[in-house]
Amino acid sequence: MKSDHKASNNRIIIIDDNVAIHDDFKKILVKEGDDNRDLEDLESLLFGSAIPGNTGIQFEIDCALQGKEGWEMVKNARENEKPYALAFVDGRMPPGWDGIETIKHLWEISPELQIVLCTAYADYSWKEIQDVLGKSDSLLILKKPFDNVEVLQLTHALTRKWELNQEIQGRLHHLAYYDNLTGLPNRALFVDRLTLALEAAQRDKYKGALLFIDLDNFKRINDTLGHSVGDELLRIMAQRILLSLRNTDKVSRPIIPETAARLGGDEFTIVIPELYGNERAAVVARRIEKQLAEPVHLGNHEFIITSSIGIAIFPDDGNDVESLLKNADLAMYFSKNSGQGRFNYYRESMNEAALRRLTIENHLRIAIEHKELELYYQPQVNITNNKITGFEALLRWHNEDLGTLSPLEFIPVAEESGLILSLGDWVIRTACKQAKAWFDKGYHFERIAVNVSVRQFTHPDFAEKVLAIVEEFDLTPNTLEIEITESLLMQDFEKLVKNLENLRKHGIQISVDDFGTGYSSLSRLKEIPIDSLKIDRTFIVGIEKDGRDLSIIEAIIAMAKGMHLRVIAEGVETSKQLNYLLNKQCYEAQGYLYSRPEPAEQIEQFLQQGAFLKPALN
Ligand code: C2E
Ligand code: MG
Ligand code: MG
Repeated sequence: MKSDHKASNNRIIIIDDNVAIHDDFKKILVKEGDDNRDLEDLESLLFGSAIPGNTGIQFEIDCALQGKEGWEMVKNARENEKPYALAFVDGRMPPGWDGIETIKHLWEISPELQIVLCTAYADYSWKEIQDVLGKSDSLLILKKPFDNVEVLQLTHALTRKWELNQEIQGRLHHLAYYDNLTGLPNRALFVDRLTLALEAAQRDKYKGALLFIDLDNFKRINDTLGHSVGDELLRIMAQRILLSLRNTDKVSRPIIPETAARLGGDEFTIVIPELYGNERAAVVARRIEKQLAEPVHLGNHEFIITSSIGIAIFPDDGNDVESLLKNADLAMYFSKNSGQGRFNYYRESMNEAALRRLTIENHLRIAIEHKELELYYQPQVNITNNKITGFEALLRWHNEDLGTLSPLEFIPVAEESGLILSLGDWVIRTACKQAKAWFDKGYHFERIAVNVSVRQFTHPDFAEKVLAIVEEFDLTPNTLEIEITESLLMQDFEKLVKNLENLRKHGIQISVDDFGTGYSSLSRLKEIPIDSLKIDRTFIVGIEKDGRDLSIIEAIIAMAKGMHLRVIAEGVETSKQLNYLLNKQCYEAQGYLYSRPEPAEQIEQFLQQGAFLKPALN
């Protein structure tokens, strides 16, 4: 693309069917040794220094005898990037196109061309010309026979006008297609180039790449050191990106150039229109990453700016600009957040679900620090007398960007990422602290239950940590109940039993959550030191339908009785379920029928009112 450099152009074409006229023009415009002295003198006399380069100015003259021939020359000149600035066109050139028709065709291929229509008689009225050619400020009419000075004057003025027009066009183009701050192509030009590259790749069956580059922690620099430092930094980074493109190991010069652009903020892109092997994109990515990470000195500061890069290959990863951008951006996001290196190729597995998971993980990392977590408590009730026996602590997370998330969504992420360890500690500590506060206020209840994930429970320090917290808050150990899931029972059996025994030895209660869903072997269950079973909600729902679930519930209750375990029904919502449970001698329940999980303040009101909860009528 052209930039705003000064264009100079002295190329002129004469289109006239009379060779003698060609010669006349040459005599006027081309200086040949001393023969032209007169004209040169005349020229400087006429224009003085007002016309730049008027002394010694050389016009290049080409001639054509027919409109069509001229048209072809103009076309070729343009394609060879040596356009003409000015054409003198004869009004009548039998047998071919006449002047007006020639001009019409010339402007179709070269709209910026300045034209002088040369006529011997009044072939056309000005109105007729305008009707055919439209209103144009690039056309003048010259009556034959010529006045030499007039020709010279016109030539100077119109070639200069062409140059000025080009300059303005160049500036406008630059404004529209280049980023003001860094001078790199902007989004509009980027989209243009990528579209072209994509079309070429699809047509000619080769591959290209889009790199999406984002500076790490740029916002922090901008916020702490001010925008002018931020701007300067962006300018430096842009130069470095350009530099790393420049010394590329291209095999041949691609028709569409490799383009670095700034999309906005600290986001940059690179379009590599032709790839010789997908790995070349990684070579470029590595080079950029290295360049950008060189120390930057600005004022008294020295920075190291790292970057994150995503690579999308086209047409494989998308055959339009939008999806390619989205996928390269997604890959960049994974580079930034997954700790899997500074650049990543887009993979199909990087889909919306994976992105959400990653986003959750990132926000979760700082959720405790930002005090975004809260425990809700759901009462557990003795259904024979409606007395609250205890509470299950259930984690709630509210994040500004993500909204309120269900533990069903974020607990698995916490488990996979290992964050569950710190999260789990926070839960146990917060629940114990709350229990202590309630006891200190004189409220009475038997226990507080917390959920513990497999990863937490199998951690070697788990038992010690729990016991330390209980001691710290001076709780009687059997007020804390640990809910483990049934799947835990399938883990390394010996280690499990050891941990459980250690906890129970000190009085901590253990219950098996969601019981009946995990296919644990009943014979194993007998060998495991536990205190209670929680019948999973799915079976309680089944009470409404009188199906197979009923026999499972009965079996669980009977088994619990046989093993001297407490049994509690989860997710009790209706009086029918309640009556059934009473009937089968399951005396404890937890569910919306009594209360949803509520924040501590609400629970405190229940406690103030004597810790009784009536089932809702339904
Ligand atoms: P869970 O331990 O089985 O907890 C019971 C879930 O059932 C809770 O969902 C509770 O709100 C819901 N529930 C209680 N009564 C009813 C009812 O009558 N009807 C219905 N439809 N639902 C009822 P919640 O709070 O969304 O928690 C979901 C799961 O997330 C929990 O299941 C537990 O496995 C896990 N979770 C929650 N907090 C923690 C935590 O602090 N640590 C760990 N590791 N897991 C947790
Ligand atoms: Mg539970
Ligand atoms: Mg449960």
